[in-house]
Amino acid sequence: MFQDVTRLYKEEKDNVKVTLIESQKILPSFDYRLQSYAEKKLNERKNFKLLNAYVTEVLSNGVKLKDGTFLPCGLVVWSTGLAPREFTRRLDAKRNKQGQIVTDEYLRVISDKSLNSYAVGDCSSIQHNPLPCTAQVAERQGRYIAKSLNKEAKSGYVSKPFIFKSQGMLAYIGENKALSDLPEFKLKGLPSWLLWRSAYLTRLGSWRLRIQVPLDWFKSYMFGRDTSRF
Ligand SMILES: Cc1cc2nc3c(=O)[nH]c(=O)nc-3n(C[C@H](O)[C@H](O)[C@H](O)COP(=O)(O)OP(=O)(O)OC[C@H]3O[C@@H](n4cnc5c(N)ncnc54)[C@H](O)[C@@H]3O)c2cc1C
Repeated sequence: MFQDVTRLYKEEKDNVKVTLIESQKILPSFDYRLQSYAEKKLNERKNFKLLNAYVTEVLSNGVKLKDGTFLPCGLVVWSTGLAPREFTRRLDAKRNKQGQIVTDEYLRVISDKSLNSYAVGDCSSIQHNPLPCTAQVAERQGRYIAKSLNKEAKSGYVSKPFIFKSQGMLAYIGENKALSDLPEFKLKGLPSWLLWRSAYLTRLGSWRLRIQVPLDWFKSYMFGRDTSRF
């Protein structure tokens, strides 16, 4: 955002300030060394502040913090978590505190006694084994369901329960720096950013996207992000 605004409104360059408010720690699931690195890099940024505080209210002209401080601002980007969609909320199925549909370890909706309904991805949570809401989990569950339904149709037997083994986590922290927290190694900075980009390229599902995505990256690198609206 900082890069885009200062590119498009050069005269406002010095007035653009970003405050990232986090009530606990940023990137809590990452190794503490990578977490500290991210904190350090964010704090080093010009016109950027990482604030450890709890937001109690968002108003039209700023946010209120738990200690009573009022932080004036022109734009608030709220990203504190996921909420289920209306459709998921309306379903007559057992749900957890977060509103996710509870499944057994075969990803079957437990409140459906016929055991013919499945729920995967962000909208669901495995009983006694909640997993993070990430694309990695959703993709793996999708593959598992496809395999297990085919197996059941052919042999009549249910597959083994779904087991999630994390392949690690990658996160971009801006300015061509990223974090890689993999079971085999940890990486940070530019090398990690290259790994992050390469990893995403390998996950693209069609040749159209494999060509389009690097071209989009190149265009953004050369000319900044395309902010036009269609
Ligand atoms: C900003 C952001 C950044 C993220 N970054 C990462 C990341 O770096 N790495 C990572 O692993 N994960 C990341 N995630 C999480 C990841 O995107 C999700 O975990 C993943 O997309 C979940 O997949 P899903 O198929 O369960 O749900 P979704 O991808 O949300 O797909 C659900 C689909 O269902 C459709 N739908 C909803 N209601 C209906 C309806 N009534 N009828 C028909 N269709 C409907 C929706 O349009 C949508 O296409 C990020 C999420 C966000 C929001």
